[in-house]
Amino acid sequence: MRRVCYFSPFIPREWIIAHGFSPCRLALSAELACAGAGAGVCPYAQALVARAERWDDALLVLTTTCDQLRRAAERIALQWAGRSHQDALFVFNVPATWGRGPREQYQAELQRLGDFLVRHGGRAPEGEVLEHHLERAAGVAVAPSRTAQKQGEDHTPKKGIPVAVVGGHLFTEHHMLHYLIRNAGGRVVLNGSEGGERTYPDYAGVSAASGPLEALATAYFDAIPDAFRRPDTGLGEWLARRVRERGAHGVIFHAYAWCDLWRAAHGHLAEVVGVPTLFLELGSSPEINGHTRTRLEAFLESLA
Ligand code: SF4
Repeated sequence: MRRVCYFSPFIPREWIIAHGFSPCRLALSAELACAGAGAGVCPYAQALVARAERWDDALLVLTTTCDQLRRAAERIALQWAGRSHQDALFVFNVPATWGRGPREQYQAELQRLGDFLVRHGGRAPEGEVLEHHLERAAGVAVAPSRTAQKQGEDHTPKKGIPVAVVGGHLFTEHHMLHYLIRNAGGRVVLNGSEGGERTYPDYAGVSAASGPLEALATAYFDAIPDAFRRPDTGLGEWLARRVRERGAHGVIFHAYAWCDLWRAAHGHLAEVVGVPTLFLELGSSPEINGHTRTRLEAFLESLA
């Protein structure tokens, strides 16, 4: 089955499956960014362009959720021009603002993505098939939070200073941040990074009978708070509420160099979370450097 690669949480995997493709969440390695990250280019976008240079026959769905990703999509389109897979790229425009108009625009983009998949050999999903996938997705979407809750209740070590981790993209190697926090005496009680619980769809109250586009807009567009959304009060409310509920003593923000979005988000979220915060700028090296580790340790010490 042909794969559709994507990494934005705003791309519903069930929509891809319903069209007869295999969804594949792209995980990028910092190794890709090391070679030639230029000034002004965020390492994550740089790695994406480097990954696209060695593309196979999968389709690639990118989103316009930040300027760096927009530019990366343009560079990839240029890079692929004239190659056999030049039409394998789809750029999904996720509206930044909330409200009825942007929501309708999101649904129109889903439809446009569906048409793109059909053009590439997929099938237009019929009502029953789609309902089946939506119902399955609703079950899967509930599962991680239940699992996390269970882990929180039963398995997560009770020792350690409870902290939240919040930010955008993370290279696979940089998930080690969680281990560093644990080694420094902390305990992550909230994962608000891209791919963590902040970016799960919310199917609560969604009925497949309301129609697939409506159901997906409710589960994804209405539910996922992010730094690119305007106004971004949704992100602040989500974070402040979870920090309170989980009893986090501090919040650790992370962002890559040139990621203005999350840098700015830290600036004002720090005022609403009600606990001390630390901002970590991560580099393009697979290792998290000694300076960052020291700052992390000092922050956790200050919370003790
Ligand atoms: S790290 Fe920031 S600037 Fe880079 S792609 Fe992600 S959101 Fe955009």
